[in-house]
Amino acid sequence: YVKEQGGGSYQMYEPGTAAKTLERILLENELRKSVHLGYFTLEYQPKMNLVHGELSGVEALVRWNHPDLGQIPPDKFIPLAEETKIILPLGEWILRKACNQAAQWKRQGYDPIRIAVNMSTIQLEDPEIVETIERIMMEEGVGPEMIGIELTESSFADRHEMRYTIQRIRDLGIVVAIDDFGTGYSTFSYIKELPADTLKIDMSFIRDIDVNENSQAIVKAIITLADTAGLNVIAEGIETTEQAGILQLLGCREGQGYLYSKPLPPEAIESTFSKVEK
Ligand code: C2E
Ligand code: MG
Ligand code: MG
Ligand code: MG
Repeated sequence: YVKEQGGGSYQMYEPGTAAKTLERILLENELRKSVHLGYFTLEYQPKMNLVHGELSGVEALVRWNHPDLGQIPPDKFIPLAEETKIILPLGEWILRKACNQAAQWKRQGYDPIRIAVNMSTIQLEDPEIVETIERIMMEEGVGPEMIGIELTESSFADRHEMRYTIQRIRDLGIVVAIDDFGTGYSTFSYIKELPADTLKIDMSFIRDIDVNENSQAIVKAIITLADTAGLNVIAEGIETTEQAGILQLLGCREGQGYLYSKPLPPEAIESTFSKVEK
């Protein structure tokens, strides 16, 4: 329809809709090609043991480096990759790359490092996902102790079959963390059925933990909950020593954030690893 606007100008549709659709289609095409063209890379961000100050693992984070479009952040393309199911081949590539990296670091003689991989709901809904994970680990020669998986709570809180899939992944010996914990809907009522090893406290509570009593109370409650349920807990998005100090006082034993390191390419992060004493 054509809508008359003030000042005598006319506009078709909602402002910007056609342009947005076009941008989306273009982006989808580029996304589809980029898996084959090798435009994706993984960066790794350390996870720290807050008690000893030692590295406790790393998280793999995907990067899309498009030759013309530049670096596109995951928050911009992961949702599109999910809607278009491109996340299935992309997710397989991510898992394979992470396993390959874990095997390489092991061969190079570094202390065993667990790489946590973010996995989307769409991947969990794939009926072959457990077999795919098993196959990739076998092909890349890594054991379950070298891999972790991060899932967001919204993906399975109320989904029975998905909880079963997660349990099968855990039965392989892979640790599962619930990412962005505290932002989902059914957090507390579902806690006793959560098939997870670790709660990863969302960074929105960490950001203002030193100035906002509510955030501090929520974090405290999550840590208590984790302790009671026998789960590990990790805080993400730690940027200052004040935040780290409060988290330690609250009994949080693991953390991650720019205070320790931003996500880095593999060569840059290796320099922080230690070698196994031979
Ligand atoms: P996430 O898994 O919760 O990852 C944490 C995000 O926060 C990352 O952003 C990380 O770079 C950023 N971050 C880490 N420390 C700090 C900090 O101290 N301060 C601030 N402000 N940010 C920090 P990134 O890499 O842009 O990823 C965003 C989201 O995209 C991820 O959130 C995850 O949901 C998704 N994502 C990233 N990589 C993958 C992947 O390989 N597969 C899937 N399915 N999703 C991914
Ligand atoms: Mg994550
Ligand atoms: Mg998160
Ligand atoms: Mg997130």
